[in-house]
Amino acid sequence: MENTYDVIIAGASNSGGMAACAAAEKGAKVLLIDKQGSSQFLYRSFFAALNSNAQKRAGIKVDKAKLMNFLTLFFQDNVDERLLWTWANHADETANWLEDNILKPNGGVLRPQKDAHYETVVNTAFNTELAIATPDNGWAHYGDWVIDKVKELGVTLKYNTKLEELVTDDSGAVTGVITSDRSSGEKTEYKANKGVIICTGGYGGNVELMKKWDPLGYKKNVYSDGPRDDGSGILAGLKVGAARDEEPAEIIFDRGAVPVGTNAEEHYQIDFKGPGYFWMGAYPMLKVNLNGERFGNESVPYQFDINAMAKQPGYLEAQIWSEDTMDHLAQFRTQGCSRLGWPGIYNTEQNKAEIQRRIDDGMVQKADTIEELAEKLDLPKDNLVNSVKRYNEMCATGVDTDFGKEKFRLFPVDKPPYYGVIMGGRLLATLDGLRINPKMEVIDKKGQPIPHLYAAGNASGGFFWGSYPDRVPGLTCSHAQTFGRLAGQNAAEN
Ligand SMILES: Cc1cc2nc3c(=O)[nH]c(=O)nc-3n(C[C@H](O)[C@H](O)[C@H](O)COP(=O)(O)OP(=O)(O)OC[C@H]3O[C@@H](n4cnc5c(N)ncnc54)[C@H](O)[C@@H]3O)c2cc1C
Repeated sequence: MENTYDVIIAGASNSGGMAACAAAEKGAKVLLIDKQGSSQFLYRSFFAALNSNAQKRAGIKVDKAKLMNFLTLFFQDNVDERLLWTWANHADETANWLEDNILKPNGGVLRPQKDAHYETVVNTAFNTELAIATPDNGWAHYGDWVIDKVKELGVTLKYNTKLEELVTDDSGAVTGVITSDRSSGEKTEYKANKGVIICTGGYGGNVELMKKWDPLGYKKNVYSDGPRDDGSGILAGLKVGAARDEEPAEIIFDRGAVPVGTNAEEHYQIDFKGPGYFWMGAYPMLKVNLNGERFGNESVPYQFDINAMAKQPGYLEAQIWSEDTMDHLAQFRTQGCSRLGWPGIYNTEQNKAEIQRRIDDGMVQKADTIEELAEKLDLPKDNLVNSVKRYNEMCATGVDTDFGKEKFRLFPVDKPPYYGVIMGGRLLATLDGLRINPKMEVIDKKGQPIPHLYAAGNASGGFFWGSYPDRVPGLTCSHAQTFGRLAGQNAAEN
């Protein structure tokens, strides 16, 4: 009996922690495992909801039908619309639970944002963002509080314990898991009377899976910020007959600085920290391809910038700006996690200090003339000079006749010193996974649930397709936590 539980959850982060709390609140005996030694820091700071209590207090109301229409269009309906609506119908419950049970008792707050400013269709934005913060606008390290809650609810939490395989009975129903101990490799079997929930995240840290399931993502990203995302939970599901999304979905930041001369096709560094993290990349300044030519409207969702770049030679781009641009960052009015720093725009001095660090690291180049900058960035001199000249002319008229960037984001590059950086994508997470139905049950290729098997978060699929809609700030975290809670509740009710 020692190794027998009602519900077993693999992955103790956003989806898994919420699943564990929800199942335990329903009276289930729960085992929560994670292959790493901690998971607290993975609980994310921007959470999306529509009309949560915090949003009501701030007078914010997000139009559900409009948001669902937008997401359906954004994903070109390559999704299970029932899952979109399931999220929209339950995200507020999750936000309220988080606020009442995790944040308030520990002095944290949900801080709603109402800055969804947009002027063009491509930038359509919603006030979904709830920043999880301290009352003085600092970071709330609420992952610790979630893990405390998990323990308070009587969940057995085992770190350094990896889901290796699912165990099934003759009918194909999932009856338990086989795990391995991280240091000894010792295998253990645990029985689950009511269900197993896969909350193990995506596969961006697994080069072989990236090449197989998301080959363009492998080329256009120069970094992956999910070193532990090895796809092992998804593989375990596939082994017992689960269906999987057939096309990739990802969340990619345009913030991956690389040294001049990098071969992006071969460069895929699995690393969160380091000099390649370039915050200002998410600002819609002048961007050119490796031929020194402007190639599109920089004022688009951050992942669209990387998609457009991937249609240019070398899967890289260069961002170009001048000293005085950095005194006017607030005027770009970026939103959610494309804003600089926390809780919003870095002040000018902080931003300049960061740029100086990147210069010292050799990532950012600084020059007194555009010709010199072109040389340092290894871009064709005449092309870059012409691109900057043309851009400045349009900034002067306030009309981008080449690509239609909004006037408030047209800032000239006409006062030295000039700066430039070569950039590719930073993969935050893959978002395609095991197919589930609205009960969070994992389904097979015929759409039938595999009895007692559930999935949530980035290990699950059918919700995202292609790019991440960053103008619905906090959507991945909310998707993971909301679906985690539903999976926990449903499994406990078996
Ligand atoms: C730097 C950064 C910042 C981000 N900020 C935000 C944000 O503010 N808002 C937002 O909406 N999104 C954000 N995201 C995206 C968000 O983090 C993810 O979408 C979210 O964490 C997904 O949650 P998850 O529970 O599905 O998986 P994860 O958070 O990836 O957790 C999976 C867990 O499973 C464990 N695991 C994996 N395999 C196994 C196995 N075989 N056995 C046992 N355990 C296993 C892992 O160790 C990990 O702890 C950010 C991402 C990054 C990289």
